[in-house]
Amino acid sequence: MVERRKRFLVFAYHGLSHADDKYVTTPEMFRRHIAFLLDAGCSFVSMDMLLQWRAGQAELPKKAVALHFDDARDDIIAHAAPLLTSLGIPSTIFVVSAWSAGRLRPQDKDAYSDFLTWRQLRELHETGLFAIGAHGETHCSLKRAGFRQKWREIAGSKREIEDAVGCTVRHLAAPYNRSNLLCRIMARAAGLASLSVGRSTYNGRSFNPYAVKRYMVTRDWDESSLRERMARTWPTARLGEQDSPPIS
Ligand SMILES: [Zn+2]
Repeated sequence: MVERRKRFLVFAYHGLSHADDKYVTTPEMFRRHIAFLLDAGCSFVSMDMLLQWRAGQAELPKKAVALHFDDARDDIIAHAAPLLTSLGIPSTIFVVSAWSAGRLRPQDKDAYSDFLTWRQLRELHETGLFAIGAHGETHCSLKRAGFRQKWREIAGSKREIEDAVGCTVRHLAAPYNRSNLLCRIMARAAGLASLSVGRSTYNGRSFNPYAVKRYMVTRDWDESSLRERMARTWPTARLGEQDSPPIS
């Protein structure tokens, strides 16, 4: 197997609705994305599976793709959960603990739907397909937060979500994809296994679990947007199933 096959992609979604917002995908387009990725031979994988692969404990399937849902918006229930559960596709929902607890609303709240409640998150988690991750307590920039607030946003949100949902929170996504070395150190110290940070590219075999790269899916993404990212990640894929012979 050529080395470049050993790569994976992370696509991060936010809302699934018809709201006029850059980070909202229509439910119809979301279904088209999933159908396209399946048709293109992608294998959907969990974050835990990717970490097992990194540790040499699992094989990476062909064209591995992980799905993220940032902010835990409640339109996941109507527009993602039925499709993903019927197809057995795993994903990770990154929860802002104060939003899901209902004690804080985002400032630009018109752009947002409501958020998944603890009960809804429990039900999704019980399907075995939705991992529940942390996305901070208040959705502030982890990079800009002071030392004590950083710890509260990282370790505090993990603990609050775990207590409320009854699960282990192993993954963190940085709001606005902003983080720094101290955030990585704190994430590790808090017992988190990964931190996702953006960067709009693929991850390779020796990826840093505390700097997982991902693409943020925006409203203008269609099938060709996915095809483009796949072609950059797996350049031989277009040649078919056979790896191209090495050039001597
Ligand atoms: Zn967010």
